[in-house]
Amino acid sequence: MGEQAPDDGTNALKKVHKAPARKSAPVKKAAAVKKAAPAKKAKAPESRTALVRRARRINRELAEVYPYAHPELDFENPFQLLVATVLSAQTTDLRVNQTTPALFARYPAPEDLAAADPEEVEEILRPTGFFRAKTKSVMGLSKALVEEFDGQVPGRLEDLVKLPGVGRKTAFVVLGNAFGRPGITADTHFQRLVRRWQWTDETDADKIEAAVGALFPRSEWTMLSHHVIFHGRRICHARKPACGACPIAPLCPAYGEGETDPEKARKLLKYEKGGFPGQRLKPPQAYLDAGGRPAPPLGAG
Ligand code: SF4
Repeated sequence: MGEQAPDDGTNALKKVHKAPARKSAPVKKAAAVKKAAPAKKAKAPESRTALVRRARRINRELAEVYPYAHPELDFENPFQLLVATVLSAQTTDLRVNQTTPALFARYPAPEDLAAADPEEVEEILRPTGFFRAKTKSVMGLSKALVEEFDGQVPGRLEDLVKLPGVGRKTAFVVLGNAFGRPGITADTHFQRLVRRWQWTDETDADKIEAAVGALFPRSEWTMLSHHVIFHGRRICHARKPACGACPIAPLCPAYGEGETDPEKARKLLKYEKGGFPGQRLKPPQAYLDAGGRPAPPLGAG
């Protein structure tokens, strides 16, 4: 981004190219270029205050880009969100959203799922992958809800994580989106992006959640998670981030990790940014008003 130093080593390179060829020349050339290159100014490490400011500014800018950010699992009550979140392991939210309408039509409450025939549940859950293990999980947690919580999903972290198959990540999704309690969702997109932004260099999901949580007021945690995940899905992809079309590029230390040409970058955009349907079959109205399109039902595309 900054201007280049007058001699960035190119002159040295030219000189080396003029030198008569010798057998060992390539190795020596590289060494010569390295020696002649001016020492790069070491960048001062970002202070904690600067990091907090930059992180919050990124979140504010993302809030403008995605004012309609929301959880991308379809649900109508805490039970549906809890089950959908458990089913979302190792698959896309889209595939879960395409599968749960049949599941909840047949088993609308924890009592129904707890008493279900496992083979029937497996058949419904087959499209989500790992369907036998997932059947066990959702039936197990339904039984626990019936036996220990009167058939209600508890609204406390310490209760939620006691349910079979429910970890902190799932619990925070449910708390944040079905109970309005602040929660950070450190999913794969979230983890990748916050590392790219150098908000933390932790690699463990729980430690990432704690490190990022400390940069923001609790009240912002849930929407922060949606903004980051939306950005990860639409623009800052795992393999080819669309840096040239990224609205927060000036704040991002990883700018250039992906495509920087604006035209080529625009072609990489996904979902509503690229004109494609979203993950939810029933997205919130704000999303539709902003030009977002609902996902197709299972088998329709
Ligand atoms: S500039 Fe590139 S790496 Fe940084 S957030 Fe944007 S898309 Fe991701």
